Amino acid sequence: MTDYALLTTGLEQLGVAFHPQAVENLLQFSLLLLEKNKVMNLTAVTDPTEVVTRHFLDCAVLAPHLGAGEHVLDVGTGAGFPGLPLAILCPKTQFTLLDAQRKRVDFLTETIAALGLLNCIAVHARAEDFAKLHRAAFDHAVSRAVAGLRVLSELALPMVKVGGSFFAMKAADCIEEVEAAAHACAVLGAPAPTLLRYTVPHDGIDRVLVRLHKTADTPAQYPRRFKKIQTDPL
Ligand code: SAM
Repeated sequence: MTDYALLTTGLEQLGVAFHPQAVENLLQFSLLLLEKNKVMNLTAVTDPTEVVTRHFLDCAVLAPHLGAGEHVLDVGTGAGFPGLPLAILCPKTQFTLLDAQRKRVDFLTETIAALGLLNCIAVHARAEDFAKLHRAAFDHAVSRAVAGLRVLSELALPMVKVGGSFFAMKAADCIEEVEAAAHACAVLGAPAPTLLRYTVPHDGIDRVLVRLHKTADTPAQYPRRFKKIQTDPL
C-alpha cells in the first residue's frame, strides 16, 4: 500500500474527515521533516511509512475532539506533534505550537510557511513562562511525550479555560501514572480524568488519550518554577 493509501484509509478508520489537500500537506510535511532530520535531531522515525503511522495517524486521533473556532495549545510540540498534523486536518481550528527548543520552533515556522497554513503559529518559550501571560487562554491543550502527567498537568492546565480539556497522549500502560496524578489534577481544576483507548491504524500499537476536563479555575500559584514542579510535583 502507498503512504497516500495508508494515510487515507487510516484516517477513515479513525473517523477523521479530511480534505484531499490535507493529505497532500501531510505528505509534504513528512518530506520536509525527514529532510531536515538529516541535519538536526527532530524525530527518531526515519521511515516515511512510520511517519504516517507513528506520527500522523497517532496524532489524528485527537481531531474529532477539536471544534471549529477553538484555540488549541500544543505543549512541548517538538517537531510539531501532535499540533501540526492537527492544524492540517482541522483548518477551522487555531493552533499554537509551543516548545522550549529554538531550533525546533524555527523548523516549525519554516514548515508552516512552506505549507501555507494560516491557522497555526510556533512559539519559542517554556510552558511555565508562557503560562504567566496566557492563563485560561486556550479552549484545549494537547501534549505527547513531554513529561509524566503529574508534571505535565501543572504545565498545561493553567492555560486551559474552564469547560475545556487537556488531552495527554500516553502509552497503553499509563494507569499508574494517571492514578499518581489524581491529586495534581484535582488541585489544578480537572478532578476526573477519563481514558480513551485506541489502536493506531496500520501500526497496531495500543495507546491512551487521557482527557482532563477542566471544571474549576487553576489556583493562581500554579504553575510554579520548573525546578519546583520537577522536584516537588503535586
Ligand atoms: N511532542 C513531540 C512528539 O511527540 O514528538 C516532542 C516530544 S520531545 C520528546 C519533548 C519536547 O518537549 C522537546 O522538544 C522539549 O523541548 C519540549 N519541552 C520539554 N519541557 C518543556 C517545557 N517546560 N516547555 C516547553 N517545551 C518543553
